Amino acid sequence: MTNVVLFGPPGAGKGTQSEKLIQKYGFVHISTGNLFRWHTKNDTPLGQRVKEIINSGALVPDEVTIAMLQEELNKNPLAKGFLFDGFPRTVPQAEALDQFMKEQGSAIHYVVALNVTEAEVRARIAKRRTVENRADDEEEKLNKRITEYFTKTIHVLPYYEKQGRLNTVNGIGDIDEIFASIAELIKL
Ligand code: AMP
Repeated sequence: MTNVVLFGPPGAGKGTQSEKLIQKYGFVHISTGNLFRWHTKNDTPLGQRVKEIINSGALVPDEVTIAMLQEELNKNPLAKGFLFDGFPRTVPQAEALDQFMKEQGSAIHYVVALNVTEAEVRARIAKRRTVENRADDEEEKLNKRITEYFTKTIHVLPYYEKQGRLNTVNGIGDIDEIFASIAELIKL
């Protein structure tokens, strides 16, 4: 089992690179953002609970996010490997993920951080807004998401760095070249 965390600010290209990684390696893709959007779209009890938070651009509380992630892991007992996209976003989430992996006799083998400047992220999301119409891509919500990233999520990087598990990849440039740099790191 090989497990990967793909890390980066909103608009860093996590979704795009995830698709390519799944195709190449057959990972089970776990995107907490996609899962939350599914729950809100389908108006589930969890969706009703998190809708306002997501639309504001804030982070969903750890206990809610961690419980949803655990449920998703339990649904995939035969996975050959997981690709975590948009999770963990806080240190308690990173600790919970390590614990879950340990319980399965596994671990997070690679943490790949896409390095993208704030200016680039803003330009990309402005572009995405014209095609995807995500409620949380609106200007003031975007500011909140970027603030959440730079005040909370960024602290996850030293957590992994201290353990020697952090790999940083330049996230600006050609999509296939970025993918090649990621693929170079991952040895199954
Ligand atoms: P994303 O598509 O990954 O940018 O996620 C969209 C929104 O879902 C975020 O702005 C948060 O409100 C929520 N979300 C996704 N993943 C997490 C997480 N790991 N922890 C807390 N909130 C999350």
